[in-house]
Amino acid sequence: MKIWPKTPSGKVDIKSLDIEQLESFLTSIDLPKEKGLRIYQAIWQRNIQSFSEINTIAKSDQRILDEHAELYFLELQQMLPSADGTQKFLWKIPQGGVIESVLIPDEDRKGGFSDRLTLCVSSQWGCAMKCSFCLTGDLGLKSHLWASQIAGQVQQISAQLPKGKRITNIVMMGMGEPVHNYNNLRVALKTMNHNFALRLSNRKITVSSVGLLPNLEKLAQELPVNIAISLNASTEEQRKQVMPITNKYSLEQLLNTCKSISELPHQQGRRITFEYVMMKGFNDSLEDAKRLTQILADIPSKINLIPYNENPDRAIKRPAFEQVKAFQTYLVSRGWYCSIRTTRGIDISAACGQLGKSFESA
Ligand code: SAH
Repeated sequence: MKIWPKTPSGKVDIKSLDIEQLESFLTSIDLPKEKGLRIYQAIWQRNIQSFSEINTIAKSDQRILDEHAELYFLELQQMLPSADGTQKFLWKIPQGGVIESVLIPDEDRKGGFSDRLTLCVSSQWGCAMKCSFCLTGDLGLKSHLWASQIAGQVQQISAQLPKGKRITNIVMMGMGEPVHNYNNLRVALKTMNHNFALRLSNRKITVSSVGLLPNLEKLAQELPVNIAISLNASTEEQRKQVMPITNKYSLEQLLNTCKSISELPHQQGRRITFEYVMMKGFNDSLEDAKRLTQILADIPSKINLIPYNENPDRAIKRPAFEQVKAFQTYLVSRGWYCSIRTTRGIDISAACGQLGKSFESA
């Protein structure tokens, strides 16, 4: 007897099942598993609100489903629009808190908007990783999100977009450490990707991690998504100062794992992204840039510089723009693809490191 994920009503959380699990759930309630794909498609592509809307199965099947399972939807508490086009969605969850997703339209070079529409998705309420500079870490880990709550952010935001618009990219860079919530993340990513569900290419999905090693490697082996690592330092000692995970998995172990991930067949021709939050006087010198080129030399990689988003709870400062630019110029001169992440949604506390704070203090 399998133990299926349940909603608080005690019914099976059917949106937390991937297609294989859904098929075996159907078998367990005496429905033919051949109906799995039809049901999966109705749930994820037609946004049905009740099983009685699945008109491709018999009324009696609908009743059996209704008896055993529930269609869970996140409860929207608020949507906050930023002056720059970014939107933040606050969702109330039955675990007792609020989680956030950030929808980021791409600005193109001419100042208009390109077709790229990125959704930054949360994987946990709070986070256990306790990176010293990050506000989400202050909450501690409150709860893992269910698979239905992770994939649901994508589905529910897609459903309210204007006609003709669609989410093109997913970044698992909201609240939480995605691979700490491994099983639910895996199911949610499969649903995001599946042709009968949300239909996002794995190449358009990026999972960002502090480097929780066994899980990170397992994920990279199992699913051909893009991998991003929050590196944030150029030496072991420096990383230990801001990212406690380094005490568990050393920088060297992390880099060795990244190297083996980059050698996986489906990672061929791709690069691992290293995110580097730049903090004034801490990790923003050209010596740091030089060390980065040394430690990343063996790994097909690109570097994404994130100038620190300042906040009243930390004394950390953002380096001057010239400093960030000089750091980038050095890396580019050494052959790296290196971008600077523009700050988006600062007025609605939607920028990197700001998630989870606004409503806690509200
Ligand atoms: N736990 C995962 C997913 C969260 S991503 C990870 O760490 O990769 C959130 C990103 O924002 C991380 O790269 C983190 O280093 C960065 N960040 C946190 N606080 C920040 C701040 N105040 N300014 C800029 N970036 C920040």
